[in-house]
Amino acid sequence: MSITQRSGKKTASGWALDSSCFHTTVKEMKRQNPVSSTQTPLPVTRHPVTNACYRESKSRPFIIPIFLPHAGCPHQCVFCNQTAITGVRRNIPSPEALRGQINNFLNYKGKQRKTVQVAFYGGNFLGQPKKDIECLLYEANKFITAGKVDSIRFSTRPDTVDNERLDMLNGLPVSTVELGVQSMDDQVLALAKRGHTASDTERAVHRLKKRNYEIGLQLMVGLPGDDEIRSLATGRRVADLSPDFVRIYPTLVLSNSQLAKWYEKGKYIPLSLEAGVAATKKLYLLFAHENIRIIRMGLQISADLEKGTTILAGPYHPAFGHLVFSDIFLDRATSILKSEIIHTDTVSINVHPRSISKMQGLKNRNIEILKRNFHLKSIRIVPDVSLGEDQLALGSHFSLPGLCQSWRKLNE
Ligand code: SF4
Repeated sequence: MSITQRSGKKTASGWALDSSCFHTTVKEMKRQNPVSSTQTPLPVTRHPVTNACYRESKSRPFIIPIFLPHAGCPHQCVFCNQTAITGVRRNIPSPEALRGQINNFLNYKGKQRKTVQVAFYGGNFLGQPKKDIECLLYEANKFITAGKVDSIRFSTRPDTVDNERLDMLNGLPVSTVELGVQSMDDQVLALAKRGHTASDTERAVHRLKKRNYEIGLQLMVGLPGDDEIRSLATGRRVADLSPDFVRIYPTLVLSNSQLAKWYEKGKYIPLSLEAGVAATKKLYLLFAHENIRIIRMGLQISADLEKGTTILAGPYHPAFGHLVFSDIFLDRATSILKSEIIHTDTVSINVHPRSISKMQGLKNRNIEILKRNFHLKSIRIVPDVSLGEDQLALGSHFSLPGLCQSWRKLNE
C-alpha cells in the first residue's frame, strides 16, 4: 500500500468520506487533489489488493443472453432450478422470438461497447438435439452476417464436449464455450448428481483448447460434501487448466430443487453469507494470483430471484461480488495497518475513486471494523486517481519524520 503523502501535510481530503464521493468525477478529483510541481514526492509504496482480474466494462463484450432453461439437460442436478433463476419458462424460443430478443437487446448497446456476443445460457447447449442446436446457431448467425453481432457463446456440460459435437460447430462463429464444472472433486460431483467426473472436465478443456475456443469455467462453493480443502483443490485443478476466465457461484437452496428437499429435512446446511463470501474470496485470490480473469461472483440479480420464494436459503446477496471485494480490501488494509507504527488515532486510506465502496464495505462495515481493531477515532477514505483500482495506500496524519519512518518500514 502506498502511503501517498504529499509534502508532509495531511493528504488532500475531506470529500472522501460521504457517498457524494461516488459521484465525484475524475476531473474534479484531479482538481481537488492536485500534486504541486514544487512538492517533492516522497517514496510511494502501492499495495496491490489483488491482481486486477476484472476488466473494464468497455473491454467486455456486450452480451445478449438467451436463456434456454434446462434445454439439453440429461436430468436435474441437485442444486439447479434454471426456471427459477432465469425467470424464463419456455424451453427453446421460436426463430421469430429469438430474433426479437436479439433485436431488443441490440437497442440497448452502448456505443463504447465494441464486441457483441449472443450467449445461450441456462441449459446444456450441446446436449440438445442436433436440429435445435443448428436452428439456434443459424438464427444467431444471421445477425453475424448482418454485422450486428460478432460471435456466439454458450454454456454446456463437460461431458457433452466430444469431437462429434465440436465438428458440428466447424465454420460457425462460436468463439466462447463455458463449462459447468462446479467442482473437481468426484465425490462432490456425485453428491450433486452431476453425472460427470473431473476427468470429463479436463478432457473437455483439452478438446476446446485444441480448437482454440475461449474457455470459461463455472464453479460453485458450498455444494454438499464440499469443504475448504476440496474447494481449494478444485481451484488449483481448474487453474492448472488455464481457462480464459471463471465464474464463481455460491450454492443456494432454490425452490423445487433436490437441495430444497434435503434442506427441509435437515440433510443439507447451506453456507452462511459470511462463509460463502470467505470461500469465494479464497478462490478469487487463487485465480487472481494465476492471472485468470474472474468475470462473475454470485448470481445475476433478477426479479424472480428477488421475489423471496425462489431462494429458500443460502448465501445470497444482490451485491455478492462487492462483498467479496470489500473483504479483500478489509484484509489488505488490516495487514498494512498491523505492519504500521501508528502514532495517531486518525488515518487516511487512499483508493481509486471506483474502489471507495469496496474499501468502505457495505454500510461502512470495513471502516467500523478497522476503527475498532486498531483503536482509531476516524478513518478517511480518500479518492486517489493515481492509484490503480486494485491498490490502496495508507496516509496518516503523521508529522513528516514519522511518515518517512513508516515508509522506510513499508519499503523494506
Ligand atoms: S446444472 Fe446444468 S446440467 Fe444440471 S440441471 Fe442445471 S442446467 Fe442442467
